[in-house]
Amino acid sequence: MTDAPKHIETIVLHAGHRGDASTGSVAVPIHQTTSFQFKSAEHAANLFALAELGNIYSRIMNPTCDVLEQRVAAMEGGAAALGLASGQAASAFAIQNIAKAGDNIVSSTDLYGGTWNLFANTMKDMGIEVRFVDPTDPEAFRRATDDKTRAYYAETLPNPKLHVFPIAEVAAIGTPLGIPLIMDNTAAAGICRPFEHGAAIIVYSTTKYIGGHGTSIGGLLVDSGAFDWEAHPERQPYLNQPDPSYHGAIWTQAVKGIGPVAYIIKARTTLLRDLGAAMSPFNAFMFIQGLETLPLRMERHCQNATAVATWLAKHPAVEQVIHPSQQSGEVRARADRYLGGQYGGLCGMVLKGGKDAGAKFIDSLKLFFHVANIGDARSLAIHPATTTHSQLSPEDQAATGVSPGYVRLSIGIEHIDDIIADLDQALSGL
Ligand code: PLP
Repeated sequence: MTDAPKHIETIVLHAGHRGDASTGSVAVPIHQTTSFQFKSAEHAANLFALAELGNIYSRIMNPTCDVLEQRVAAMEGGAAALGLASGQAASAFAIQNIAKAGDNIVSSTDLYGGTWNLFANTMKDMGIEVRFVDPTDPEAFRRATDDKTRAYYAETLPNPKLHVFPIAEVAAIGTPLGIPLIMDNTAAAGICRPFEHGAAIIVYSTTKYIGGHGTSIGGLLVDSGAFDWEAHPERQPYLNQPDPSYHGAIWTQAVKGIGPVAYIIKARTTLLRDLGAAMSPFNAFMFIQGLETLPLRMERHCQNATAVATWLAKHPAVEQVIHPSQQSGEVRARADRYLGGQYGGLCGMVLKGGKDAGAKFIDSLKLFFHVANIGDARSLAIHPATTTHSQLSPEDQAATGVSPGYVRLSIGIEHIDDIIADLDQALSGL
């Protein structure tokens, strides 16, 4: 693109691709190839030495993935991005890129269950300690920090509570200490731009709103390019000391000619090279299609979810509605500050009839799909007490914000009257 557009509606349609160089194709081609022909021995050597950037092998980079990466980086106002096989891979890489055995990170307790498992069990097995703190108190991050703390981690709009994370408050604690704030922005894609509030890295499960149609599993890391890794050599040793896995490269130095992209290049050229959790070009194509309408869809998701929350709040079978539009005080102020007046597509409710009512409600739905997913264009529902959280004790369920009658709704972009009609008929049987 020649003139950088300012608005995300334009960026998601144009960034990173202006007609295919060889065919003129306006749609981004799917480069379904494993490898790329080098122009010469010298060209190959330069690519491997990072003296020149270019395609080598699709485990590490691919031109279709590259367009998605450039587009999402532009949407977020970041420097570069890295496509990965899933959101889980993105969360894992986000941490592993800067923390090793003996190090720790401080994370919000309000996390997607898969991330919780990754942090509490798999990271622990790797020797990386994750210190969980209550996100309602930003200072809790500072209190949990020590010399071995390499990152802070949180979700912008975590379910089930849907309490928006204090991004600027926690970034302001970590940044002077050399600690980057990593934000999982999956549920707020297109409505919150965490870099504007001081986050250093963004994690996405593109499986959700970016894909938008429930077709493909994928993830992304986005590097703001604004975090000064070099200023904190002791806090961030793996970007500032010779890396034995890449012939002694010091990442902050090695990429100087390319841009402020040490974090993302290291993730690509070491973790992705070694662990291989690559996004397929076909999935990247699907995510590009989704991304092109993300702002439009999010507008409708948010509009519909707010209308559903307002309607549910008056329903006699509903004890509580969980949605930012129904919040008050500091929690609501954060939602207003960070989500810019849109409140996301997720909505929870607690049914007065408890667990049995939750199960019965789900079985009565006709339009909503009963699935363990969010962010589809279609409306989705799940009853965590009998599914995703059924292995947890009632006490642990309560600690994660899941009560027996809690139902999670991911509101789609269907006509609002049809969505409410389905909820109405399912609730009327309780
Ligand atoms: N982060 C959030 C907020 C999620 O909701 C999910 C999946 O539900 C993930 C990460 C993991 O993403 P994936 O399923 O693409 O691995």
